[in-house]
Amino acid sequence: MFKPFKPIGILFCALILLAGCATTPKQPEEVISPPAASQSNAALNWEDPNAVHRPPAHQVVQPAPVATVNSPPRVVHQTATAEPVQTWTALDRWAAQHKVGTPHLLSGTPVRTYAVSSLNGVMILAIGSREASWNGVEMLLGFAPELIDGQMFVHGLDLQKNLEPLLCAPPLTFNPNRVIVIDPGHGGSNVGTHSVLDGRFEKEFTLDWAKRLKPMLETNGWKVFLSRTSDTFLTNSDRVVFADSHNADLFISLHFNSGAPDEKPHGLTTFCLTPVGMPSTLTRGYADPWMEHLLNNAFDAQNLQLAIQVQSTLLRATDMDDRGVQRARFMEVLRGQKRPAILIEAGYLSNPHEAKRIEDSEFRQKLAEAVADALK
Ligand SMILES: [Zn+2]
Repeated sequence: MFKPFKPIGILFCALILLAGCATTPKQPEEVISPPAASQSNAALNWEDPNAVHRPPAHQVVQPAPVATVNSPPRVVHQTATAEPVQTWTALDRWAAQHKVGTPHLLSGTPVRTYAVSSLNGVMILAIGSREASWNGVEMLLGFAPELIDGQMFVHGLDLQKNLEPLLCAPPLTFNPNRVIVIDPGHGGSNVGTHSVLDGRFEKEFTLDWAKRLKPMLETNGWKVFLSRTSDTFLTNSDRVVFADSHNADLFISLHFNSGAPDEKPHGLTTFCLTPVGMPSTLTRGYADPWMEHLLNNAFDAQNLQLAIQVQSTLLRATDMDDRGVQRARFMEVLRGQKRPAILIEAGYLSNPHEAKRIEDSEFRQKLAEAVADALK
């Protein structure tokens, strides 16, 4: 589990404006399952890894009797507080502008679900739900799409920060002398969470995972540095400084989760930093200042691409339940990174079934192989 430090404000305005798509339109060739049912909206508590922050409710405009097909309205929602104006765009119009396939209605009930695709893959979105999926991997949008005049409208930030990087941008590439910092979570007096089975600490399992991963990445051409190689204490800012001092091109923090005392939560989550202007999907009770500009926001697109790639490979390798790629703003180890950075929570040590797997070295070997595969 990731233990946050108190968030600090860093002013840095470097929003990347992504170029338009150049991919050829392509329709999905198979029926894709709609996103899973809504997650619980439990009271926020940083010990509760399931807490999902919901954005303020918007008024959903009902479809007009006759939908305007060629000239959908550009709808602007304005909240009562000092939050910025939020622009919503018809998915059809955005897809045409970005030369991706025309969105395609997958299901009309219980909620309207659409697929939009490019050569990169297929995204599924549902009216009224932040849950979406990319090539079968769950992810959470900043804002639930709305039905307006019979069409799906998507928030401008979701188009820019979630749809464009996945549907339009070229895949992540790495330079020949690439450097990666692997960060085994916790260490020393910061033990992390513990196994429900026998009390063994998270810090032990994250270090073992990192040590297995290092030679695999080296075989694949990476120059690899571990933020710690023994049971030593590091602050989160030490870990960021370590990545800076090694000129890291990528940063990956390794963790295991806990829902204690609840033994039910399980599954795999990969986190990256929340883009400016968006609500996070996990806050653990910490403030979530939507308009705060953080250094790592310069890498919003690559963060998401990396998170999706790693989450997808880990899911295939482990057959764990998919808790999705999620966004958090409080994670100190990600906030100040001057490179794409993600944090993986590879299962719950509070869940007896997953704790048993995590305690098995063969499983940790699988985790290492999967992360290495994702970065080939
Ligand atoms: Zn942790």
